[in-house]
Amino acid sequence: MISASNEYALECVINPQKGHLKVSGTIIIPATEESAFFILNRGLRWTKTVRRTASGYQSITAYKTDIVAVPKFYHGDLWTFDIQNSQQDEFVLEIEYSGQIHPPAKDSHMPAMGYIKRDFVELACYSAWYPVPFNMETNMSFELACEGPDDWTWEANGKLQNVEKNNGTAVWSWKQTKPVNDIVVLGLPKRDAHLDEESLFWGPRDLVGSHKVLDTSAREMKKLLEDWLGPRDTSDSVRFVITPRKMGGAYARTGLIVVGGGYSTDTILRKPVLQSMCHEICHDWFCKASVRTYDNWLDEALAEYCSIMITDDYLNEGFLESHVEKTMQLLEKQGNIPAIRSLTRDQEEAYAAYYFRGFLLLHEISEKIGRIEFRKMIGEFAQICAKNRDITTDMFLEFIEENSKTKIIDTAKNWLDFEGVGIPLSI
Ligand SMILES: [Zn+2]
Repeated sequence: MISASNEYALECVINPQKGHLKVSGTIIIPATEESAFFILNRGLRWTKTVRRTASGYQSITAYKTDIVAVPKFYHGDLWTFDIQNSQQDEFVLEIEYSGQIHPPAKDSHMPAMGYIKRDFVELACYSAWYPVPFNMETNMSFELACEGPDDWTWEANGKLQNVEKNNGTAVWSWKQTKPVNDIVVLGLPKRDAHLDEESLFWGPRDLVGSHKVLDTSAREMKKLLEDWLGPRDTSDSVRFVITPRKMGGAYARTGLIVVGGGYSTDTILRKPVLQSMCHEICHDWFCKASVRTYDNWLDEALAEYCSIMITDDYLNEGFLESHVEKTMQLLEKQGNIPAIRSLTRDQEEAYAAYYFRGFLLLHEISEKIGRIEFRKMIGEFAQICAKNRDITTDMFLEFIEENSKTKIIDTAKNWLDFEGVGIPLSI
């Protein structure tokens, strides 16, 4: 299956003092998409929706729809347009909208992942600050220009093109030519920022300063991963962005790893912190399975497996054994967990199923084949991931079975279909 890919060109003006956002731009949607469904934050209002055609412009209406429920982790409504199907190759939408970023509804019990505040801006798909394609398999390439106060510094998940200062404001522009699954912008006043070219971290100085101790370790572990998994699918180096957000945890976007509140620098927690940083770095390779299907378990389980292996190598203190044991306990404590195959990542039980049971499944296969052999194969599979757009569970299992000449598919299927406490009995 070939995923469709939208092209975005957005110009946004962010006013942190007023908490206001104004965006104009175009979205090019391949005509293979029968209709255009987008999620937009509840605090934003459309001010222009026009369709550009070969023969001119056609005003179209954006209207809210509830034909399908918007996944809970988005703070937005579902919109579509009264577009008549045509024979054209693509839809070109010219849009404008503005307003404030509203937090999620209280009864959704979801953390506010996006906000425009006086001292920090964090915008990603969760806050639906741009029209987020409802079909999560739709990737996006983008050009983004962001105008803000001239004494602010910004990060985005694209390649920085230039910074243009003009009358108290500065326009930062980025380009992402590769289709990616999100458009992320983060910013803060320069006077508050930790600015160090050598550092893997970016964010408020008071939060990042204490992370220096983790910097060296993270860079050494990244090197170990590159030796094992080969070249990454992005030329940008991994950056950890620390945001002041206290809830909601971390997300990884093409080399940009955004961590709410930062990592604990307590030495007691050093091992799990290093492993969780390493997990995020692993997503530079393992990010190609669909997030709309259960296949996403594979990306999470591979990121867990590889980060645990590297942490074990790095610390050399039996981290793997203790982690396997701990994961088993954590999984059993969760009680009855549905089958991995029956879950998508937005479901609550997916975490235990993907991260715990999924990791234990990979460990089981690894023990069956032999750790050294399995690690070699994971290294080769990482390159398949880096070079392909879509990765599925079947691709992985067939690759391992074929290369190891060991029957693992039946075992894996037994695990993936297992519903209950812990892990299935061996077959
Ligand atoms: Zn992950």
